[in-house]
Amino acid sequence: MKGYERKRTKIVTIGEVKIGGGNPVSVQSMCNTNTADVAATLAQLHALQAAGAEIGRLAVPDQEAADALPAILRQSPLPLVADIHFDYRLALAAIRAGMHGLRINPGNIGSAERVRQVALAAKAAGIPIRVGVNGGSLPADLLDKHHGVTADALVEAALRHVELLEDNGFHAIKIALKASSVPVMVDAYRTISGLTDYPLHIGVTETGTLYRGSVKTALGLGVLLLEGIGDTLRVSLTDDPCREAALGREILSMLGLRPWGWEFVSCPTCGRTKVDLISLAQRVEAALMDITPAKPLKVAVMGCAVNGPGEAADADIGLACGADGGLIFRHGEKVGYFDQADLFEEFIRRVRELTTEG
Ligand code: SF4
Repeated sequence: MKGYERKRTKIVTIGEVKIGGGNPVSVQSMCNTNTADVAATLAQLHALQAAGAEIGRLAVPDQEAADALPAILRQSPLPLVADIHFDYRLALAAIRAGMHGLRINPGNIGSAERVRQVALAAKAAGIPIRVGVNGGSLPADLLDKHHGVTADALVEAALRHVELLEDNGFHAIKIALKASSVPVMVDAYRTISGLTDYPLHIGVTETGTLYRGSVKTALGLGVLLLEGIGDTLRVSLTDDPCREAALGREILSMLGLRPWGWEFVSCPTCGRTKVDLISLAQRVEAALMDITPAKPLKVAVMGCAVNGPGEAADADIGLACGADGGLIFRHGEKVGYFDQADLFEEFIRRVRELTTEG
């Protein structure tokens, strides 16, 4: 597959994960547990890692949450970013606790002296700060100047925060410019990508629930990533954060940037389909969620003899249905024809064999 030319950016490091400079686009997600609940937060971090997240983010809204950070860090399977708004003392506490990164907008934490303290402490700890501008919390003067949430308003807001850090000699910066409108966020990231070489954390924010949110996210991130823009991403769904991580991984995989897990091909069905292919494909897809291949594999579930054998034979493991059953292929070779009643079990058995044989 043709490689996409990535925009060259500076590198920042979150724990062991390098972001920018052509490093693989990493997947982040944010816990929705009460951070002060150490056990629940750790359980979700493990689940996020299993779903494909490489960096975790925790809200630190109060001192109780900040107090829990050392215990979480001791057992976290992922490097962790503290998400802080307004209170610079919480930022200093998160740095002292050993968090691997901060998300804080320096323009929102008060005096220049507070900004200086946070910048100096982060620099001494060797951790980056993400400036994260969101269309829902732009300053009033920029909303007035730009007549609402526009790409230029987002960019100007981000550059204000960046400048405050640079004024303190701090340059380990990532930038996010999130809006819930795909055209606005794409425009904003394109613009800032031309103005700076800081690494970009990309995402469409507040996309909604699973179906619409997935469409919106894939559109926004897909456009940017195909243009070589974006060094790390976060999917934002009103759903289980594990779905965010999995969707982020899927998007990178489908773009060929980081092939991962299963590539799933199934046909739309038509008047030639004789078996209940929709239900069969859904059952296969659900079963695949519990089987993680050691390397990316392609699965095809097809409805008839027109395109079925070709797609099924092209996949690592494929199924081409006929009148009362289906022909299973493995690496292009016919395994056998199985009755409809046995088809699902026979197919999943072959899938499992394929993955366990590596
Ligand atoms: S593979 Fe066959 S059943 Fe499926 S859409 Fe194509 S022609 Fe129709």
